[in-house]
Amino acid sequence: MTVDPTTDSAVRERLIRAIAERMIAHADELTALDQAIGDGDHGLNMKRGFEAVLAAAPDLAARPLPAALAEIGKTLVMRVGGASGPLYGTLFLTLGKTLPERPSGDELIAALAAAVDAVKARGKSDAGQKTMLDVLVPVLDDLRRGGDGVPGRLADAAHAAAQATVPMRAVRGRASFLGERSIGHMDPGARSSALMIEAVVTCLEERA
Ligand code: ADP
Ligand code: MG
Repeated sequence: MTVDPTTDSAVRERLIRAIAERMIAHADELTALDQAIGDGDHGLNMKRGFEAVLAAAPDLAARPLPAALAEIGKTLVMRVGGASGPLYGTLFLTLGKTLPERPSGDELIAALAAAVDAVKARGKSDAGQKTMLDVLVPVLDDLRRGGDGVPGRLADAAHAAAQATVPMRAVRGRASFLGERSIGHMDPGARSSALMIEAVVTCLEERA
């Protein structure tokens, strides 16, 4: 059975729904994480944005993958809000702009790298600062390493990377206002990124 979101609109729709449903299902958890070191809106922000994505899933899936990704990016910019809306929006928009319709493995990695670089530029941030980049950067590095267990291995890598934000001190985003007191809590955006990666991997593996 095919699991190729580049050629199969049904796979694209499953993928879009899987990501959106995962974000919506974990909204309370993301909010609780943001209550500890932010302003407690990350879950609600993501839920609002991904409810809009979910409502548009059939229309989005009818487009070629790059156009669908760019449109998701625009929806997230408009609907999520907070710091995370423009950042996740930039991630998807850049992926959409960079990914060819039928990417090779190398082109997929190049597009993901461009998208992560665009998030860094937009956030004036990098890995090591207790943000979503502490999941996105190591997972991209792991994907680049290739070898056995991709993509399944990437979900474990993403969750381990989110867990690794717990002892970090935030130097970007609202959590940085807390200084030392940001230590001891998982970064909400790192958690949402790990959940997103898990949703993608699980969906693509289910029917492989
Ligand atoms: P806000 O911080 O405006 O309330 P959210 O709560 O929705 O927005 O999102 C917070 C998350 O956004 C953080 O947990 C962090 O992962 C991410 N974030 C915030 N600022 C940056 C930045 N400059 N670069 C990368 N990620 C960031
Ligand atoms: Mg917040």
